[in-house]
Amino acid sequence: MADTGKNGGNDGGPGAPMINGRAYPFIDHTYDVVVVGAGGSGLRATLGCAEAGLKTACITKVFPTRSHTVAAQGGIAASLGNMGPDDWRWHMYDTVKGSDWLGDQDAIEYLCRHAPAAVYELEHYGLPFSRTEDGRIYQRPFGGMTTHYGKGTAQRTCAAADRTGHAMLHTLYGQSLRHASEFFIEYFAIDLIMEDGACRGVVALCMDDGTLHRFRAHRTILATGGYGRAYFSCTSAHTCTGDGNAMVLRAGLPLQDMEFVQFHPTGIYGAGCLITEGARGEGGYLVNSEGERFMERYAPHAKDLASRDVVSRAMTIEIREGRGVGKNKDHIFLHLDHLDPAVLAERLPGISESARIFAGVDVTREPIPVLPTVHYNMGGIPTNYHGEVLTKIGDDPDAIVPGLMAVGEAACVSVHGANRLGSNSLIDLVVFGRAVGLRCAATVERGERHRDLPKDAGQNALERLDRFRYASGGTPTAQLRLRMQKVMQTNCAVFRTGEVLEEGKQLIHEVWAAGDDIRVTDRSLIWNTDLIETLEYDNLIAQAVVTMEGAANRTESRGAHAREDFPDRDDRNWMKHTLAWADPHSRTVRIDYRPVHTYTMSNDIQYIEPKARVY
Ligand SMILES: Cc1cc2nc3c(=O)[nH]c(=O)nc-3n(C[C@H](O)[C@H](O)[C@H](O)COP(=O)(O)OP(=O)(O)OC[C@H]3O[C@@H](n4cnc5c(N)ncnc54)[C@H](O)[C@@H]3O)c2cc1C
Repeated sequence: MADTGKNGGNDGGPGAPMINGRAYPFIDHTYDVVVVGAGGSGLRATLGCAEAGLKTACITKVFPTRSHTVAAQGGIAASLGNMGPDDWRWHMYDTVKGSDWLGDQDAIEYLCRHAPAAVYELEHYGLPFSRTEDGRIYQRPFGGMTTHYGKGTAQRTCAAADRTGHAMLHTLYGQSLRHASEFFIEYFAIDLIMEDGACRGVVALCMDDGTLHRFRAHRTILATGGYGRAYFSCTSAHTCTGDGNAMVLRAGLPLQDMEFVQFHPTGIYGAGCLITEGARGEGGYLVNSEGERFMERYAPHAKDLASRDVVSRAMTIEIREGRGVGKNKDHIFLHLDHLDPAVLAERLPGISESARIFAGVDVTREPIPVLPTVHYNMGGIPTNYHGEVLTKIGDDPDAIVPGLMAVGEAACVSVHGANRLGSNSLIDLVVFGRAVGLRCAATVERGERHRDLPKDAGQNALERLDRFRYASGGTPTAQLRLRMQKVMQTNCAVFRTGEVLEEGKQLIHEVWAAGDDIRVTDRSLIWNTDLIETLEYDNLIAQAVVTMEGAANRTESRGAHAREDFPDRDDRNWMKHTLAWADPHSRTVRIDYRPVHTYTMSNDIQYIEPKARVY
């Protein structure tokens, strides 16, 4: 499938770049568009660009249908109104409120307006949604999703049982193959090729045969997903290392709002695997050691379906105040055993299985032991709602980085602001995946001529690769990774204080600096998992540092960022996006800000004023 070019070979022919006396010949490729990532967002972007007739490549480090999107359980939000009244404006209101007023309201309008069409498109592509009696797409309630601007409970989350992401990913991969897109599977993207502030493409290593590939493209779209693996306990796959985010940092560009890390209330105690919010949507509830349904106290209205930050904090308080369950009183019980076993079998078969395997629990008889677990990164690569990457240049906070786009969990559009509502990520993937395709179709001429790449294009990627390949320090990568994960879990968790964060800053910088002593034992380029995990670790640590620095810097509480020393939201000083740059050479971080877009795209909905937090 892949165009392998002719100017390569791995024998170091004349003109091959030399690093430390070693030749690293490139195989060159030229495309209109290169997408890095084949999760829901990357596949939808690939499909859109290829459909528009653009010569499109999709590079992915795992087989497309193994991307983390496959694990999404609960569903995808869109105001179809199949189970009762609904309106995209209500969805928008909920999303702005859920974001705790850090989301950009123009982008949120774009998301919610286009959501129903995006779901029908998936249906027409063949996604096997669960159905209502009369054959319409089944929709379940999810946390924070309301009708009539907060008055009723919406059933807005479209589901294919509890395997919605699985169904979506397979559907989108099938559709991508219908078009002339080319897949480079098990290729690991190392770094962007930048020239004068513009992106010209990307360098990747073919993990199977060790060849190095230089992709030149008019647009490079990063769809590389989140970085949950910076933490010790998370629901995301081992591959969620935020590689695209780190490439952006190394290109001298900022990441946005990295301090906002979502904890999902119901990771299985000990294993971290997710029990979908759909379980509470179907009637499940949480209890403490006194058998009390404590969410009634914290969120009298929304109860167990309050937004994730609220439920995670309530659980943490219960445990801290000695009302946790189990021998060590360090977790909470989720009850599903009162639900009809037929409903469990039909609507929640996947989590019933996970609970059996990972907690040894039969959900029809016993509660599931659960604990808040890292689940989603609201922060990422700043973009506008076309997916174009933004940076701040001088006084312009929305300067577009030519040639570079981002989409999916890697991007910060920002529709989720300080806290993402459940089922709003899958819809983000397809709405903005489609948007970047449309933008590429509108701004790239098919087969447009490419300027020559600069002579040293890709040298940065090779130097980094070579440095780690021959790293001969005393500390194995796994040891540094564990240290990083423990620091993040301890010092940058559900509740934060200035003191704990300052300690966290010091500790995480120590781990970053310890990278000088890293050791890689395998020197080969073929299926070298030691080397790949080291490149991934190097990506994670830079993101961990900006996450910690952003959290220490933001002296307020908003969404998922809960400071005990600053318990209130402070709109006057902090209703702004954090931008963080990290210099890997001097190991320093710089912080600046962008204003939140408090305007909408149209006059169909007025700007939504910040309100006090009542749940
Ligand atoms: C367990 C779980 C359940 C969830 N459930 C829901 C839900 O019900 N509803 C909802 O809305 N959201 C849910 N989410 C969130 C949502 O699934 C994710 O945010 C979303 O799937 C991310 O999609 P993505 O396209 O951004 O990236 P991913 O699906 O993570 O894919 C990333 C892609 O990038 C590629 N890649 C990464 N680095 C490189 C590199 N260096 N070189 C080449 N390729 C690279 C990978 O190969 C992969 O193809 C859930 C998340 C988890 C973890």
